[in-house]
Amino acid sequence: MRDEHAPDSERLKPLESEVVPRYAEIATFMRLPHVPLGDTRGRVDIGLIGVPWDGGTTNRPGARHGPRQVREMSSLIRRYHHATGIMPFDLCQCADLGDAPVNPVDLMDALERVGRYYRDVAAAGIVPLTAGGDHLISLPILRSLGRDAPVGMIQIDAHTDTWDKYFGDSEYTHGTPFRRAIEEGILDPKRTVQIGIRGGLYGAGDKAWGLEQGIRVIEIEEFFDLGVDAVIAEARRVAGDGETYVSFDIDGLDPVFAPGTGTPEVGGLMTHDAQRLLRGFRGLNLVGADVVEVSPPFDPSGNTALVGATMMFEILCVLAEAVSARKCNRATN
Ligand code: MN
Ligand code: MN
Repeated sequence: MRDEHAPDSERLKPLESEVVPRYAEIATFMRLPHVPLGDTRGRVDIGLIGVPWDGGTTNRPGARHGPRQVREMSSLIRRYHHATGIMPFDLCQCADLGDAPVNPVDLMDALERVGRYYRDVAAAGIVPLTAGGDHLISLPILRSLGRDAPVGMIQIDAHTDTWDKYFGDSEYTHGTPFRRAIEEGILDPKRTVQIGIRGGLYGAGDKAWGLEQGIRVIEIEEFFDLGVDAVIAEARRVAGDGETYVSFDIDGLDPVFAPGTGTPEVGGLMTHDAQRLLRGFRGLNLVGADVVEVSPPFDPSGNTALVGATMMFEILCVLAEAVSARKCNRATN
């Protein structure tokens, strides 16, 4: 399924590691060419984008530094997926589009700026794979993807992020994006599955709202009881054939594997469970994804960012297959 639409001279590829060592040159996501949105000229299928913003964080900040360290650690990523054999950079034209514009001192303006940017990404026909940033950045992304019809979502997270308000009347935090998205009609709760949920709540009623909307919540106990393959089957059943977004909060993983995050909860997924889970989304109608809440100040070793970059590559592989399949369908119709 090599992409035959782009001639080789136009093909966007990561730097050749045999020519330029992987620790050299300016760090971009997976060593891809940096192509700003204004220069894409119809050449880019999948845009890797940073959103360096954590103004929705309610506890420990720092996810604004995520994209830069994920870029740095993503130089360790190679091109061929060892288990699935997928080569995403052969299937699709991928580029690092740089960072979305943000405003670190004004939450509502930041949501506006990010939202406008992702509307332009969608208008350019580019499928976004984003590195956050705190989880509130998923809201403006969903506003662009779910504008015509609500999308489904597979969310890996310790938290549901469907809380209502904080500190009185504040409706927009990294604990509320999916409640707002459902209220706005851009996310279909009946096609939403949340995996890895755990940790103490403020009260027994905190679980009720999402369940009442019809979200399928797979708490971590059920995840381990079912096992990865059964969770994949359940996620596929919920997502169905419709357009589906993948949102990967790094705190879904156990903090042993990903300590660099703002709201860690022990007893989470292992990295390999998460990798196998993501591989299980092959063939779904994926329209975008993000990896959020990597907070480098809490993990100066960079390992959490490496985990984030690796999850992005796992997602990129299944996303590239989905994008390439849609392109082939369009070409034959
Ligand atoms: Mn979380
Ligand atoms: Mn989250």
